[in-house]
Amino acid sequence: MSQFAVESPPVVALPIAGTDKTFPVRRVYCIGRNYAAHAIEMGHDPDREPPFFFQKNPDNLDTSGQFPYPPKTSDVHHEIEMAVMLKSGGTNISVANALDHVFGYALSLDMTRRDLQGEQKKMGRPWEIGKAFERSAPIGPIHTVEEVGHLDQGRVELKVNNEIKQEGDLNQMIWKVPEMISYLSDYFELATGDVILSGTPAGVGPIVKGDVMDISVAGLGSMTIPVV
Ligand code: MN
Repeated sequence: MSQFAVESPPVVALPIAGTDKTFPVRRVYCIGRNYAAHAIEMGHDPDREPPFFFQKNPDNLDTSGQFPYPPKTSDVHHEIEMAVMLKSGGTNISVANALDHVFGYALSLDMTRRDLQGEQKKMGRPWEIGKAFERSAPIGPIHTVEEVGHLDQGRVELKVNNEIKQEGDLNQMIWKVPEMISYLSDYFELATGDVILSGTPAGVGPIVKGDVMDISVAGLGSMTIPVV
């Protein structure tokens, strides 16, 4: 007999390439404006800004391979990002030790209702309505550190209908993966199952129903995600 008074929600679990095991998700942190050219295109000065984070919900991660156009918006933007999965955590993690906590990496998208996010920014309100909606983070299979090592350079690319819209290199991140882990661990207790979306290069823009997004990060392969 279950101790729960209602049905227990399912654990969000992500596929791991090359195995039938899955990775259970605890939290999802996302960094804002982590590529200088993207910070500039959003109207900010990349040099004088400490990192900042927002969160998505674990069940916003979506492995279906499709992106359903969400309601209450007419301006949904693509943001290709590398996701980082933690196998362990803690507080006050040093930059030098941070990568010891990484389980693996995956291709992902931080899909954004830009019109709603813009209204929230203007009013100084939180971003959830623009960022943390259903299926807002399409994500691919996890590639483990054993398989691909640690990724700190390599091409990042997003095409819409075969036209390149976003391109950059992981080495252009303002805050590197170990720095993000260390910084977050000063403010939060990180733990097994935490996921960090590491920011998007320049070239974000709108998609519409019927578009097809092709995303790739060197070392993590590619994915085709139709907007339905
Ligand atoms: Mn983003």
